Amino acid sequence: MPELPEIVAHAERLSAAFVGIALKRFEPLHPAALKTFDPRPAAAAGEPLVSVGHRGKYLLLRFGRGDPAAREGGGGRGDTAGQGDPALRAKASEDAAVGDDGECNVGDDDAAVVGDGGDGGDGGDGECNVGGEAVVVGAGGDEGDGGDGADDDRRRDPSLVFVVHLMQAGRLRGDAAQAPKPRGGMARWSFEDSSALLLTEAGKERRAGVWLISGDPDESEPLARLGPDADAIDRDDLARRLSAASERVHGFLRDQSHLAGIGRLLANEILHSARISPFTNASRLDDEAVDRLHEAIRTSIERGLAAERQLQDMGRSKNRPNDVHHRVGRQCPNCDDTVRAVEYRRYRVAYCPTCQTGGKVLADNTTSRFLK
Ligand SMILES: [Zn+2]
Repeated sequence: MPELPEIVAHAERLSAAFVGIALKRFEPLHPAALKTFDPRPAAAAGEPLVSVGHRGKYLLLRFGRGDPAAREGGGGRGDTAGQGDPALRAKASEDAAVGDDGECNVGDDDAAVVGDGGDGGDGGDGECNVGGEAVVVGAGGDEGDGGDGADDDRRRDPSLVFVVHLMQAGRLRGDAAQAPKPRGGMARWSFEDSSALLLTEAGKERRAGVWLISGDPDESEPLARLGPDADAIDRDDLARRLSAASERVHGFLRDQSHLAGIGRLLANEILHSARISPFTNASRLDDEAVDRLHEAIRTSIERGLAAERQLQDMGRSKNRPNDVHHRVGRQCPNCDDTVRAVEYRRYRVAYCPTCQTGGKVLADNTTSRFLK
């Protein structure tokens, strides 16, 4: 499963390729793909993609006019959204996409269009004149076609966020072929410039999914239950969460409600880097171990991200940088010992006895059972 480094790097790739382009249509290709009923995907039609971000292992495709942080600071935009013509907003966003040189936040300018109807809104950064043109378009526009309930959603928050979970085998990629029934197809975002994004899932399980959220996605399922992103958690917050936990530290790291974005590979790598036994109870780590763990979380994610950013598409697990996860039976890079593993049904704990468990080799329960 992709973990934080893969998701972050992929969000960056998708941003570079698609931000600024208006959505034409979202289309589920499998009945299990879309997990939400309200708002309807049609509410996002005509809106530009303003960002591709992430939260834990989820990708966030935000459509609309502006980011919530800016709106909270400026105030008022949420009240005035939803008054323009979606088609004209799409036109404006196309113009913005063409002129976007990285200095201009397309979403903010678009928000100024709809919200203020003519005075240029918060603009004034001097870097981008798209907003000025767009104001003319927006102010002269007719009311939207409305009638589908979307306007109510837009009044609460002008952005609509598709939350995408790839799970184990999902992929979200540009869709050049746009086949009517793509193999493993789960959902497609078609854009006004004729490009598209396709969510696929290999295999027979259908566990990847899409949630469409109006407003702050952090307050809704599936993100509401997540702990802070692993690359952003501060040391004392981590210490508090560890001391309140009752499971082994390997399980703690993979529990997305404690901290988000760490999976099987990173949990093994982080604990090896921190020289902590994966089988230690999370609440028993002393201050010095918490320091090492916090640092190892940061460096392990940075290491993965640096490697992933070199790739054109999401990398495979076996190619990710690792010292223990794919090196069981081989020599530990930090000492002369051999990397060992304890196999569980859904994951494998890989560790170095000398570096992590005081030389103790732990029983491999699963293998022992198979041998009986
Ligand atoms: Zn070692």
